Amino acid sequence: MPTFNRRGTSGKGASLVTKHNAELCGKRNVARVMNTFPPEFETGNVLNNIKLSNRVYNQLKLHSYAEEKRMNRLHDKVEKATASLAFDPKTRLILYKSLNSCILDEIGSIIATGKESIVLYGKGGQTDLHKIPSEVAIKIFKTSLNEFHTRNQYLREDHRFKNRCKGLNPRKIVKLWAEKEMFNLQRLQRAGIPCPTPVLLKKHVLFLSFIGKDSVPAERLRDAVLTPEELANAYKQCLNLLKQIYHECKLIHADFSEYNLLWLDNIVYVIDVAQSVEPHHPNAYTFLLRDCTNVSTYFSRRTLNDYVLSPEETFNHVTGLGFEKRGQEFLNEIQAYEKNVRLQSEAIKEKDNFSFEYFFNQTKELHADDSSSDEDDDNDDDEDYTDLTSGDEYAATLSKSLPSKIMKSPSRKTKLSKHTP
Ligand code: ADP
Ligand code: MG
Repeated sequence: MPTFNRRGTSGKGASLVTKHNAELCGKRNVARVMNTFPPEFETGNVLNNIKLSNRVYNQLKLHSYAEEKRMNRLHDKVEKATASLAFDPKTRLILYKSLNSCILDEIGSIIATGKESIVLYGKGGQTDLHKIPSEVAIKIFKTSLNEFHTRNQYLREDHRFKNRCKGLNPRKIVKLWAEKEMFNLQRLQRAGIPCPTPVLLKKHVLFLSFIGKDSVPAERLRDAVLTPEELANAYKQCLNLLKQIYHECKLIHADFSEYNLLWLDNIVYVIDVAQSVEPHHPNAYTFLLRDCTNVSTYFSRRTLNDYVLSPEETFNHVTGLGFEKRGQEFLNEIQAYEKNVRLQSEAIKEKDNFSFEYFFNQTKELHADDSSSDEDDDNDDDEDYTDLTSGDEYAATLSKSLPSKIMKSPSRKTKLSKHTP
């Protein structure tokens, strides 16, 4: 590259060139792109024989400024997002330790941030202590105060947890909440319902098997684009899922909707069962009607055929109960029924001394857990994990250690079998 004098020329006579020489400008512009543009600006391989006219160079320069600003904004957003996710030191420590103890090989990106939790993708590691799937979803329950009251209501009324949640602070409640999700998922698993397998539980962090492929999570039913045949298939599966959850798991999902159902390889997977309750929860049947309404609304909006059952028909189909009224009267009938179920179950419980606390304490003894005391909060040993990979053995040990009366809930049996179709 020649050097120019103050008048902007170089050389003499026939070899005189000015600084505006197109060839030289072209080359100089290429060099500037390489040397002065921000490093994030992708220039590709700019070879020597390429020339950039001033017009192109100026446009590129403007573009690079805009790009730089955008990158800064994005970076800011990511930083703000991380801050707002606010992984508190305890959560960070749990994640850090899971990497350190080879439970995880890698923690990947965020799959979703809901109002209740943040779900991360992780690659499972290899340890002698735990059997970890190659891909995991790490569900971190938020410890924010907002969710405290909602959760408290679902826990307070669930007799498996009600005595344990008295006077607890939000952090303790959230641990119970994670535990509840784990227990409910185990029940679903035992009934063969497609759902994530709970792998490990550490305080408010639940490690689940990943529903998806090659780090791509399965789509929620809400987002999946289904053909009419697939929709019919999904609808059939949803009805069966509702029935199975109710009859075989003795649970009511209580948030069964297209947002909590994943679609993968023509199979509907059930997720998000922390709020699921047993049929003698005071609002169990109202929740079930809401679940049925969600299914009915979702599928009737998407299918032109009128084979989709109304919410009331769905409810009767799922429970085997034959309520005939419709609308508000149907709801009144349901509420009267759920009161009855509760009273009956309470009476039987008292008579037989049927104690879920006993059931719960047994599981506590089997698997040293960390949710009982304040001191435990600071004890972050690896053995502190509740390992759930050996689900069947776990159930078997449990059944051996419990009186048969406890394994069979007489209240639910008599009530439900009466109406089973
Ligand atoms: P929330 O209680 O916050 O709604 P969810 O359990 O519904 O939490 O999870 C939020 C999102 O995370 C889901 O919509 C789903 O996309 C994703 N997700 C949750 N669990 C898994 C899993 N095991 N595998 C893949 N994706 C999952
Ligand atoms: Mg959800």
